[in-house]
Amino acid sequence: MTKEQTHHIRRVMRMQQGDVIRVADNSGRVLLAEVEYHQEEAAARVVREVRDRSRTSVELILAQGMIKGEKWDYLLQKSAELGVAEIIPFVSSRCVVKIKDEKSEKKIVRWNKILCEACEQCKRSTLVRLQPPCTFSQLSQIDADLRLIAYEDADCKSERLCEVLRAHPSPKRVLMVVGSEGGFSADEVEALTASGFHRVSLGGRILRAETAAISLLNSIEFYYDMAGEKDEDDI
Ligand code: SAH
Repeated sequence: MTKEQTHHIRRVMRMQQGDVIRVADNSGRVLLAEVEYHQEEAAARVVREVRDRSRTSVELILAQGMIKGEKWDYLLQKSAELGVAEIIPFVSSRCVVKIKDEKSEKKIVRWNKILCEACEQCKRSTLVRLQPPCTFSQLSQIDADLRLIAYEDADCKSERLCEVLRAHPSPKRVLMVVGSEGGFSADEVEALTASGFHRVSLGGRILRAETAAISLLNSIEFYYDMAGEKDEDDI
């Protein structure tokens, strides 16, 4: 275990030799292990592998227009809890946040820490991949089986999310693009739809960016994972 983990187990959790912990090594495996102390160091002796139920069946990729301060931190935490695999921050014409500030090493380290803590707290077996911030025009090059843009001016009757999902019964990777506080310009939306993105509405109310991301992640997970057929060995 790292120094930090040792401190957490020994001093914060006050664990004894032989206590059982869950260990995930970011490969998707979840192991039960017993704590062992060797002088100042702690180790985990693997007892057995357990079934990982933390992963979504569809790989969820969120490209999110940068938003300010605490709301961004909140968005990272909630997205991790809701099973996002990858987050791609971007800057668009109506973003107040500037890409230069956001590229700073310190910020990325802090964001990864927020994500890692959220993953531990909700017992995920894999970490969220956080990409460096990109520009809006780079979004069209991101590959996925289904690419969505949540657009505040999409029609809540004719551009319904569930219709788009119904037309794509088993995608492997779903990319969702959500705007910042300022939303998207018509040109930006046009550029993405021209390269194959589907415009979707999240209903007849304008949501804040972080609410929109949470709602979209949960709706997609609900559609493909929770409302679908049961796995055979789950019956
Ligand atoms: N300032 C804009 C709103 C931006 S909301 C305005 O007043 O019109 C921030 C982002 O959340 C949007 O760019 C969009 O991606 C998403 N969003 C919010 N409400 C939505 C809705 N009803 N349908 C689809 N996307 C929505």
